[in-house]
Amino acid sequence: MAYRKIPVPQDVAQVLETLWQAGYPAYVVGGCVRDCLLGREPDDWDICTAATPDQMRRVFAGERLVPTGEQHGTMTLVRCGVPYEITAFRTDGPYGDSRHPDGVRLGASLMQDLARRDFTVNAMAYSPRGGFVDYFGGSQDLRARVLRCVGDPRARLAEDALRIARAARLAAQLGFTVEAQTAAAAGGSCADLSAVSPERVRVELEKLLCGAYAGAALRLYGAWFAAVLPPIPAWTGGAVAACPADLSTRLAVLAYACGDGFLYSLRFPRETALAASAVAAYLAVPPEVTAESARRVLHRLGPRGAQTLAAALTAVCAAHGDEKSARAASAFWRETQQALARGDCYSLAQLQVNGADALEAGVPPGRAVGRALARLLDGVLRGDVPNDRAELLRRLRAIAQEGSGTV
Ligand code: ATP
Ligand code: MG
Repeated sequence: MAYRKIPVPQDVAQVLETLWQAGYPAYVVGGCVRDCLLGREPDDWDICTAATPDQMRRVFAGERLVPTGEQHGTMTLVRCGVPYEITAFRTDGPYGDSRHPDGVRLGASLMQDLARRDFTVNAMAYSPRGGFVDYFGGSQDLRARVLRCVGDPRARLAEDALRIARAARLAAQLGFTVEAQTAAAAGGSCADLSAVSPERVRVELEKLLCGAYAGAALRLYGAWFAAVLPPIPAWTGGAVAACPADLSTRLAVLAYACGDGFLYSLRFPRETALAASAVAAYLAVPPEVTAESARRVLHRLGPRGAQTLAAALTAVCAAHGDEKSARAASAFWRETQQALARGDCYSLAQLQVNGADALEAGVPPGRAVGRALARLLDGVLRGDVPNDRAELLRRLRAIAQEGSGTV
């Protein structure tokens, strides 16, 4: 029996048991059941129960119960410092805006609670007392590796467009295909994704990109993101698949493939967006294979960014079947590693002189100091100037003289 494979941890089982003993059926539900049946480690154990938040308060009297989403029926029990999210069985009211139900109704049955869930493989529940519950054919779809909406796909995706992004993301993580009618409905209502908060879409896109099957998912379902992403060129899936499963590399490839505007419109953290844009710019104009170019890339991107660039370049070349450029990409990475191994200077922080030295050498205070140091660093990056303190001090004095001559 499928449910034998659901190893509910002892502590989670105890929370379920407390609820059952008080007369409220309780189950683990959703992603954790799906992941266990797939032999994957669940991220978290979501619990659903017939108890309403007020009833949970009575059941867990004397324990810490935090109303983390009480209006949606969700309370968090904290036992021995461990949080357990417990949600009352509920049905969602009508969706006015393709995203938020206008209200939720508590006091629903387990069947109703499972019916509101997005995909059949996410609509299974289990508890040691109640057994394995699968009203919508989730285990069958799981075996067939298919994502299928619970109920009518058109209605379900129209009421919450985030499910379109979730379908693509789950496909990317699990290697599932989206069942034909669900896929047709997703394609038909994907414009509604623009109504979903950019942050929510961003989270799904991030998970999609990091998925083990991200390349195939982008190829098959990337077009569903048309409301929030420019058209994704056909080679992108192959390039993403050839990248390490790492967000910065894959994001840079996507930013190169369809422009970096989405990094800002989908509200990626500023640092993440700037880093991906910078790498994408180098993908458009790959660095030369010279020590100077390696130092300049290190200056601009830092060692981690340079590694991201090398991986992204290799992946993009592989996707284009461009072996010559792929060889150049590995040669560039070798240059970079050699520059690092030699301890080449590529940043102001590594320069053997600083602002105080510039002032002492007679450079006037203010922006001239930064300009003088930048000039020295430029010479060091080029390879014309050694990163040698005596030599750099001599040059600083020369710059100071130059400056006073022109004033
Ligand atoms: P993950 O592995 O990322 O946690 P998950 O499927 O568990 O995947 P969650 O966001 O944790 O995703 O949601 C938990 C469960 O809640 C889902 O398995 C699904 O049953 C339900 N659910 C989540 N989002 C939606 C949604 N937008 N519409 C309907 N049901 C949803
Ligand atoms: Mg989850």
